[in-house]
Amino acid sequence: MEIKKEVRVKNSGRNNPVEYKNFPMVPRVVFGKGSFAQLSKILMPKRKHSEAPFIFLVDDVFENQELAANIPCIFNDKIIFISAEEEPKTHQVDAIVDLIRSEFSEEPSGIVGIGGGTLLDLSKAVAIMLTNEGGSANYQGWDLVTKPALYHVGIPTISGTGAEVSRTTVLLGPEKKLGINSDFTTFDQVLLDPDVTKGVPKEQWFYTGMDCYIHCIESLTGTYLNAFSQSYGEKSLDLCKEVFLEDLNEEESRDKLMMASWHGGMSIAYSQVGVAHAMSYGLSYLLGVKHGIGNCLVFQYLEEFYPDGVALFYKMMDKHNIILPTGICKDLSDEQYSTMIKVAMGMTPLWENALGENWRDTITEQKLRSIYEKI
Ligand code: NAD
Ligand code: ZN
Repeated sequence: MEIKKEVRVKNSGRNNPVEYKNFPMVPRVVFGKGSFAQLSKILMPKRKHSEAPFIFLVDDVFENQELAANIPCIFNDKIIFISAEEEPKTHQVDAIVDLIRSEFSEEPSGIVGIGGGTLLDLSKAVAIMLTNEGGSANYQGWDLVTKPALYHVGIPTISGTGAEVSRTTVLLGPEKKLGINSDFTTFDQVLLDPDVTKGVPKEQWFYTGMDCYIHCIESLTGTYLNAFSQSYGEKSLDLCKEVFLEDLNEEESRDKLMMASWHGGMSIAYSQVGVAHAMSYGLSYLLGVKHGIGNCLVFQYLEEFYPDGVALFYKMMDKHNIILPTGICKDLSDEQYSTMIKVAMGMTPLWENALGENWRDTITEQKLRSIYEKI
């Protein structure tokens, strides 16, 4: 199986062997029902001194909830509740960093992100920006971060994105929606407590869960696939099938979806996503459609690219009585279609992964427009 260029640093001829990317992984992880109670113990040795706080960035869905009351907030630690209504933006990251800097003269001991992909991504970005100069938009891209981030911990409260394992934080900037992809982005510690996902509403559970399912389909059918990605992708796909097609009890289902997310994230770390993600980025950029539902809206019409994956997706929708919204693109102007198509077509590695180097033979503006028009 050939390893494609996404995981290859360079291939400089016979005398210089191929060099592969050296991906960082989360060095410490706790998994288990109720493990949230261990957070205090985990953070204690990382406290620099009593004046250096931990900053907890928490999804505001938990404000006045039990989980918030159990956050181990001591000394001058601070909890900042943040809405996950909109996807993370560079100016939002910069504002949080300014707030922390203005309130504390000492560098914090660390950042703890508690929430879904939105809060996890914000937390990674804030941890980076507290030690690197300038605005976060300057770091959107690949390997632009020069200094290690502040110690940062991720605690997912909804499963699917894989943001808990990835080396990226996807941000909407003034000019682009692009991740800060760097070796310093990855969390130093992740805490996986399936119990904290208990309150997720059913539709959202499905959309974010399908993000994971679509990661698997796009990774496993892509041209960048290799044994590393395949091993994680297959495990994740099996878990998704169990969760979304079988009748597991709720506890088992929460446990398995949490691990599906982790494995799905590991799979795409060493390969790439594909058509649904490229087109969903367009929807998100123009209309602010959120990642999970955006992927579903696109994926339902991709039978040409992922026939088996899409057939199974319909089965999963049926089983859980999910009805996707319609008419999202119905009033768009030609100019708006063209913006969306430009954003989607700009995601070259995703198209290359999905269809190979000659992807432009299949993917034309008209083709993408005809799919967007159905949504
Ligand atoms: P999210 O974080 O936006 O949350 C979705 C909704 O679920 C929100 O309304 C939130 O308040 C609610 N929610 C979360 N946990 C809950 C709980 N336990 N109980 C009740 N409600 C809860 O959703 P998401 O799908 O996890 O994340 C999407 C984001 O993740 C996007 O911004 C996307 O770009 C990003 N993402 C990042 C990566 C990465 O590798 N960094 C990968 C995929 C997606
Ligand atoms: Zn995704």
